[in-house]
Amino acid sequence: MKLYKTEAIVLRTINLREADLLVVLFSREYGKLRVMAHGARKPTSRKRGFVQPFCYSRFLLHKGREMDSISQCEGVELFPELLQSLRTIGYASRLTGLVENLTAEGEANEKVFLLLLQALRLLARGDAEILARAFEVKLVSFLGYRPVLQHCAVCRRPLAGVQAAFSAAAGGVLCSACAARGAQPVIWCRRGTVETLKLFLRWELARLENCKVDAQARRELKAILENYIEYHLGYRGTAAEFWRHPGGPGNDHA
Ligand SMILES: [Zn+2]
Repeated sequence: MKLYKTEAIVLRTINLREADLLVVLFSREYGKLRVMAHGARKPTSRKRGFVQPFCYSRFLLHKGREMDSISQCEGVELFPELLQSLRTIGYASRLTGLVENLTAEGEANEKVFLLLLQALRLLARGDAEILARAFEVKLVSFLGYRPVLQHCAVCRRPLAGVQAAFSAAAGGVLCSACAARGAQPVIWCRRGTVETLKLFLRWELARLENCKVDAQARRELKAILENYIEYHLGYRGTAAEFWRHPGGPGNDHA
């Protein structure tokens, strides 16, 4: 079987010599794939419009000895609205960067595929920062790293009081007594921030797109999730993502 079909989201493209393009896809059927799009940078190429980052397209792929290549493709949803501002480009790049870096090649994960698709549909019209944070905690959970949020990750007692702390090493939230013992480095946060994380896991992205979260909670969520993803999955994000990321120099969400 030399040809096979898949539907996929374009995570990233890399320009190669002549007019070729290396395309990193996250496909519904096969997970992450790296494929060649021969001649896709030629102005006359019929593939050109469907292999751009964030496009959701249908592909007919050709099995190659070293690398598979795109034989045909057609767009399903192209999300042109995401390209209207650096802010949405930045968030969409953050999400596709996470999927590219946290998943293994050829391992299908339909939940991750549908999560990314839903996030790309909502980013330009909802609160992109909140959608990105909810995406992050859902993604790590779908990949087997769901943080402990229901009780203290060390002593398992229920949380009390308005203060809480988060420890990536302990795998989740700590009560103030365990956090004060100082066995693991922690990020202190308000209890409400832990409740917000629980909500992110429980609710669909569409329900969260206009969720009210104040500036302090946004800072806490960003710090907690970046630290957790780096600790468990060894990924920090790229400079380009950071540049366009809230907290980075391009921040427009103070
Ligand atoms: Zn405890």
